[in-house]
Amino acid sequence: MEIVSERLKKIASFVPTGTRLLDVGSDHAYLPLYLMAQDQISFAIAGEVVDGPYQSARRHVADSAYHHAIDVRLADGLSAMTEEDNIQTVVIAGMGGRLIARILEDGQNNLESVERLILQPNNSEDEVRAWLNSHGYALVAEQILSENGKVYEILVAEPGEQTLSDLELRFGPFLLQEKSDIFRARWRKEDEKLSQILANIPPEKSGERQFIIKQIDAIKEVLT
Ligand code: SAM
Repeated sequence: MEIVSERLKKIASFVPTGTRLLDVGSDHAYLPLYLMAQDQISFAIAGEVVDGPYQSARRHVADSAYHHAIDVRLADGLSAMTEEDNIQTVVIAGMGGRLIARILEDGQNNLESVERLILQPNNSEDEVRAWLNSHGYALVAEQILSENGKVYEILVAEPGEQTLSDLELRFGPFLLQEKSDIFRARWRKEDEKLSQILANIPPEKSGERQFIIKQIDAIKEVLT
């Protein structure tokens, strides 16, 4: 079996034991295969919208000992599952936050049986939190990790009510509480990037400057 990244292992750590899983954008089906090898899930759908990754997921699953328990499907987002699949956990990882929010929005009617969403946006995490916040999902855990020079956030949500403040939408309620070293380093870097952008905006563009200053102030507030 291929070596699974720390990022995927961390995502896997939030998958409940014995669950029926849909992995949206499964690429090589690494995550379902890893979870099967761990004896952590009972059934998985590896969903892929692009033919190349779909074929590679099919090959990987066919060559594995788990072809009876992983269904590879060519489908867009949450349309990979039907009611009969009785999926309890959905993972959407390794994509932009806007795309993840779009997939959730388009497929929300398919989420009835789903008890847990595990989402790992590569960026725009606030858009994912905003979708969860306004669609009856509450964050139950968050994790931030760094691998190969990149920082990733993992958001775990379950059906429930939660109202997030603007600060929590941007920084994450659990990550804000924890303020780990990785979190601090990520936002310090963002602060530097925004300060550079600000330095290049002429004084007459006061609206643009104010927008950036507000973002920098929020980071400073969180980091002090
Ligand atoms: N989920 C894996 C991971 O985290 O390592 C693979 C991430 S890969 C960068 C993103 C995958 O999502 C690609 O294989 C892409 O084809 C697939 N994808 C993008 N949009 C999708 C959609 N709407 N439905 C299903 N798969 C999608």
